Amino acid sequence: MNDLARADRRLLWHPFTQTQEWLSYEPLIVERADGFFLIDTEGRRYLDGVSSVWCNVHGHGQPEITRALHEQLDRVCHTTLLGLSHRPAIELAERLVAITPAGLDRVFYSDSGSTAVEVAIRMAFQYWRQTGRDGDARRDRFITLGEAYHGDTLGSVSLGRSSPFHTGYEAITFEVEKFPPPYLCEPIDGHGPVDATALEAAGARSLAALEETLEANQGRVAAVVVEPLVQGAAGIWPQPPSFVRGLRELCDVHGTLMIADEVATGFGRTGTMFACEQAAVSPDIMCLAKGLTAGYLPLAATLASERVFGAFGGSYTEYRTLFHGHTYGGNPLGCAAALANLDVFEQQDTLATARQRAELFGELLDRHIAPLDRAGPPRRVGMMAAFDMLADPQSAQPYPADERRGHRAVLEARRRGVIIRPLGDTMVLMPPLAITPDLLERIVETTAQAVARATGD
Ligand code: PLP
Repeated sequence: MNDLARADRRLLWHPFTQTQEWLSYEPLIVERADGFFLIDTEGRRYLDGVSSVWCNVHGHGQPEITRALHEQLDRVCHTTLLGLSHRPAIELAERLVAITPAGLDRVFYSDSGSTAVEVAIRMAFQYWRQTGRDGDARRDRFITLGEAYHGDTLGSVSLGRSSPFHTGYEAITFEVEKFPPPYLCEPIDGHGPVDATALEAAGARSLAALEETLEANQGRVAAVVVEPLVQGAAGIWPQPPSFVRGLRELCDVHGTLMIADEVATGFGRTGTMFACEQAAVSPDIMCLAKGLTAGYLPLAATLASERVFGAFGGSYTEYRTLFHGHTYGGNPLGCAAALANLDVFEQQDTLATARQRAELFGELLDRHIAPLDRAGPPRRVGMMAAFDMLADPQSAQPYPADERRGHRAVLEARRRGVIIRPLGDTMVLMPPLAITPDLLERIVETTAQAVARATGD
């Protein structure tokens, strides 16, 4: 173990990492990157199978983005949007409004997916307090899907509270109303819906549950929050587009707002620029982060309709201001990276590539993952996929958590030069959208080998 690794062990506290376990194996320390590879301090190369936690789009070192960052570095690295403005923030807002679903015309910047959601919560809550009609001021409840994940700040934790990330925080989070997502409505041998028909039926059942929840909270709901088309951290669980459409319709019928959290699904992940497009739906508020800068810098945006924005106007002493803002929100370098990212999307037709790769991804999962003896059926939406490592796939029986099968598979994959990061024993594969076909195959094949090894097949 080298000096850096020793210093890491002595000094760092890693996110979502059991420290004791971290100390039991040699850390992989990334020194640099080259396209789709991460390179460690020993010069070993690893394929980035999870896009640096779901955010890398075109690979590392994309010349267009690097150039834009250098140019912005020479102009200004940071200035604030509190009381001032800057060119990249304005130009990026123009581009975002043009490419997001119709009606999302205002852009509020922050710096992570969690803060984008936090802002959305504040917007929705305050919107109802300020719309003036008597009953609306009582719209202070949020409805979310069971097992949702919206981030790690306490507002977004309140919306999520998926086990085991979020249990035990009741005293410092707010109550939300939950309804079961499609995959919990139609469990088939414990695997969730496995074909389009079952998924449609599950979506319809989930919507019926939402309707009941809305009726039980008549006049009290500020917003329904959804990760559209696929729940990510719950384990990559798909929804049919009809579910997202139905959710929008129910929001309209019950006069409440729809918040779409596209932090994970945005920027081509599901095959369209935004998942909402596949349902032909415009939410009232939309959260973006991760792929916004193609995985280069921390930046987030919460987009809102003019209707929502309009409720915040008034004289200073009416105090209708959105009293929220982060020091680095809308950072110029982040905005410059995001603008260059959108240029690359256009120049390289990244969406077309992503769709082609997604098709191949499906074939590769069928070829390499489906035949595994100790894995459930793979799930995939665009370039997001997952499958469960199972002690007994027939009965969907999981492995005992302390066997750490997922973690063992990660270490096996790492030895073979591929980085993956599971959610427990759910293996997630989320390669960069622009990955080449041969490297995509290497990621899937290596994962299959690593899982076979970690499950003793
Ligand atoms: N919302 C969704 C749907 C996510 O998947 C995530 C992160 O995975 C977040 C919010 C939180 O984003 P961040 O980690 O940038 O705070």
